[in-house]
Amino acid sequence: MIIPMSAEEHSAHRDRRIPAAERVAEGVWTLPLRNHPGHMSFTFSYLVEDAEGGVHVIDPGWDLDENLEAIRAALARTGRRGRGPASIIVTHLHPDHMGLAERLRSGHGSPVVLHRWDEEAQRESAHWLADAGRVRADLVAWGVPSERLEEVLGYVTGTPRVVIPADLHLEDGDLLPVPGRRLRAVHTPGHTPGHLCLLEEDQRLLFTGDHLLPVVTPGVGAAGHSAENPLRLYLDNLLTVRAYDDCQSLPGHEFRYRGIAARAAGIAARHLRRTVEVEAVLAVDPGATTWAVASRLSWSRGWAGLTRHYLVSALRQTAMHADLVRSGAHLDALEAWGRPPVGPRPLGT
Ligand SMILES: [Zn+2]
Repeated sequence: MIIPMSAEEHSAHRDRRIPAAERVAEGVWTLPLRNHPGHMSFTFSYLVEDAEGGVHVIDPGWDLDENLEAIRAALARTGRRGRGPASIIVTHLHPDHMGLAERLRSGHGSPVVLHRWDEEAQRESAHWLADAGRVRADLVAWGVPSERLEEVLGYVTGTPRVVIPADLHLEDGDLLPVPGRRLRAVHTPGHTPGHLCLLEEDQRLLFTGDHLLPVVTPGVGAAGHSAENPLRLYLDNLLTVRAYDDCQSLPGHEFRYRGIAARAAGIAARHLRRTVEVEAVLAVDPGATTWAVASRLSWSRGWAGLTRHYLVSALRQTAMHADLVRSGAHLDALEAWGRPPVGPRPLGT
């Protein structure tokens, strides 16, 4: 059971509008910022004041002029008119979270802080996308039929290739350079390899980025090409965050809430229902390709209706679940979270 912490945010989510900015705790504010159409309607940026009057921006949001103005206006309200953020802290590499980091840095000289793996993932993804031969070989290995190969290749290589390097890399357990506050990095790979949650130890706030969202099930392995199975890491890190159940969750989208352990369990069950579905397909056809497995799963749009990034996402998800089952690692996850009831229940894409 989760408990929304802001009536304004909860009603805005229900009415599909962007909520007003709010004070969360001493020196901590929300700043909801608009997203590009086709994505979650807004992203929560957060402002965190330090003991020396500096204000740090967590997730500066999509690269839009109106968002840049909103951040500058919010900084001015805190008494930092004309001065930029003391630092730009990024939970993960996606453009709805990190997009404005480069313009804020170049405009104000503010350092960008993120986990090293998400900087590497940006580079790795850009290299992979730039090598059409390698992408093609990976799609063939997934079993994409030859008559669909050019179409799927077009969806994959149409992804933007932005690389924003960090000025400071964080590792799990590091304290952030925020004077007077104990704000600690909690590395939660899965959604992206370098995804960070941020723990405000004194006020028991957990900035959860896209690791946990109160309503939508976050995507896994959403950083493009990846060597390790992100689903295995993600399921492990859903276990990790149960330790912060006493904290208020400050997510990247939707609304603030309490009930981190319950939400982690709900999300794990949803992913594991898909794992069990893939396990059943592989039990009767152990050598099936990713494409062949995916075509036999239940999809909210129907398999035939999947195109563009929905199709690529469906193949990626299927590949991760199949790898989890073939490695046997799904048995640990099913033991930790419990085996979900079998039966078709479309997961969506
Ligand atoms: Zn997001």
